[in-house]
Amino acid sequence: MLKRILEGNRSFRTREFDPNRSHYETIAKGQKPEALFICCADSRIEPGKITATRAGELFVFRNVGNIIPPGDTGIAALLEFAIPQLKISTIILCGHSGCASIRALDREPADEPVFRWLDFARAAQERVDAQIPLPRTEEEKDERFRLIEEENVRLQIGHLLTYPVLKKAVDENRVEVFGVYYDLTTGELTRVT
Ligand SMILES: [Zn+2]
Repeated sequence: MLKRILEGNRSFRTREFDPNRSHYETIAKGQKPEALFICCADSRIEPGKITATRAGELFVFRNVGNIIPPGDTGIAALLEFAIPQLKISTIILCGHSGCASIRALDREPADEPVFRWLDFARAAQERVDAQIPLPRTEEEKDERFRLIEEENVRLQIGHLLTYPVLKKAVDENRVEVFGVYYDLTTGELTRVT
């Protein structure tokens, strides 16, 4: 795999970097991204490609399940860097279809790191299950997962807004926060409101 990655990098330099050298030289001097894009670590999501943005435009943060734990030092540092330093004006939190983290919410919880992590998303499952009848068909089961994946976007935006640096910036209209949902089966990104 490493060999393939290094060969791929040679191909990237020939096809993309060299023909766009002035763009890469400009961004090498400093970044000025306008948006922070938060999404799942899932290998099937390529933030730059699915939004047709170039290197330097998106400040990207990823983890398993696009989960934002409240009171987390890493998230606090991310927002401190993104808002006062980089002056980012848009934050996009992206959920996606077929998210393994959301499916894992249905497994029997155990004292393992993955479940302690998923606890930060469990309220999304509980909210959806309280609102819909028990799914019976495969279609209904898939629809339930989609609803939980979308609800998790709203839940994690709520967690983001518990961070004072972001809450203040939103209240002062310096930053807007949006939720989006990426469908792996169609490549479409839609708003989650
Ligand atoms: Zn995922």
